[in-house]
Amino acid sequence: MDLYSGHINRLIDELASLPGIGGKSAQRLAFYIINLPKDRVKKLSDAIMNARENVHYCKVCCTLTDEDICPVCGNPNRNHKVIMVVENARDLAAYEKTGKYDGVYHVLHGAISPMLGIGPGDIRLSELMQRLQTEEVDEVIVATNSSLEGETTAMYISKLIKPTGIKVTRIASGVPVGGDLEYIDEVTLLRALEGRTEL
Ligand code: ZN
Repeated sequence: MDLYSGHINRLIDELASLPGIGGKSAQRLAFYIINLPKDRVKKLSDAIMNARENVHYCKVCCTLTDEDICPVCGNPNRNHKVIMVVENARDLAAYEKTGKYDGVYHVLHGAISPMLGIGPGDIRLSELMQRLQTEEVDEVIVATNSSLEGETTAMYISKLIKPTGIKVTRIASGVPVGGDLEYIDEVTLLRALEGRTEL
């Protein structure tokens, strides 16, 4: 259906391809953008380009950062012997917001999902194992989501790490099943962290 110009259709298609944005939202955003002053549109497109070009993975924990090493990994006051494994940078942000966790992180950028064909090699697991070989680590806290994928990943990680003798713990459930960590309130997050059990 060519109700709009080809340019608008292309914009709608691009927006609709983003996660969580359906056809109607894409249309609404497209018309909003088209009616913005040109300098606002430039700011928006520059922000997207700059973020894409300048953000990369922290060399240590794989979270997204503008620097080689992220502020958490670069902070000497953090406990570098405790590593919390999370699925994505948003989960890391959720724990950082509590201000109560003083260890460091490892960001997997996904979870193992046989259904979606995502295997251990598709997430940042080998980077974690590398860290455990080169850094002095007392505990690995597996804080993946309580979804099927998150649990599968937790079991896999536990099996990998067990032979090294390093303590592996899992955050307490009570985190809603399938719930993304970023949507859970700080009290629940802290309770899950404090109630963690050894795997
Ligand atoms: Zn880092």
